[in-house]
Amino acid sequence: MSTSASARDRIEFIMRDLSRRYLPAGDLREGGTALAKIVAEREDPFLVLISTILSQRTRDEKTEIASRRLFAKYDTPRSIADADAADLERLIKPVGFYRQKAVQIQKVSRALLDRHGGSVPRTYEELIELPQVGPKTANCVLVYGYGEPRIPTDTHVHRVSNRLGLVRTKSPEKTEQRLMRTIPKDYWLHINELFIRFGKDICRPIGPRCPECSFTKFCRHYPRTKWAKSARRRPERPQVHRT
Ligand code: SF4
Repeated sequence: MSTSASARDRIEFIMRDLSRRYLPAGDLREGGTALAKIVAEREDPFLVLISTILSQRTRDEKTEIASRRLFAKYDTPRSIADADAADLERLIKPVGFYRQKAVQIQKVSRALLDRHGGSVPRTYEELIELPQVGPKTANCVLVYGYGEPRIPTDTHVHRVSNRLGLVRTKSPEKTEQRLMRTIPKDYWLHINELFIRFGKDICRPIGPRCPECSFTKFCRHYPRTKWAKSARRRPERPQVHRT
């Protein structure tokens, strides 16, 4: 599907505004998500892969804490594959489902050793074949680990894209497919970071902070917010005081 001139203008406007807020130097390593912070310290696709698995159904803050605890002791496929499972569980306990995730990170570490000599592959097709790796995880590794343009799509990216009228979809999977067809590739690398930050800071799932947003004119959700309702309310007639 081609992108119309008006849609392209809107995308440019959105990306410019969010980049100014969250990535003013245009560098992912200045980002505020757990993945961006981890990459800023150590550019290692393996750490991105493991953090992304830890992040599933978990708040970003907890992911960051658990990742730091884990990587302080185990930071290679070999060390995680050989680690005592109870020790892994203890280290990643801040994240939800930590017992299952301890098993998962050992499985993926062993698969990397068995199939890729301990390296993280850099194609989507190879990544998606690894255990515990779905589309979002594969795309996160490509974006944050290798700087490849992809669009990892979680619930924040899904919600923000729909509210801003970039897509009209029911699931993050569909959103990812639609975004890849409509958004110029130049923007792909930063979309995840920008939309997650915006979705957490301002365009929150419940109680979005619309007065701080530049997109009220075309946002699909704005007319349903309390801000729009109060703006529509007629100003009260001034009272006339008779003397
Ligand atoms: S106007 Fe409100 S709901 Fe719409 S994108 Fe901005 S913050 Fe989100």
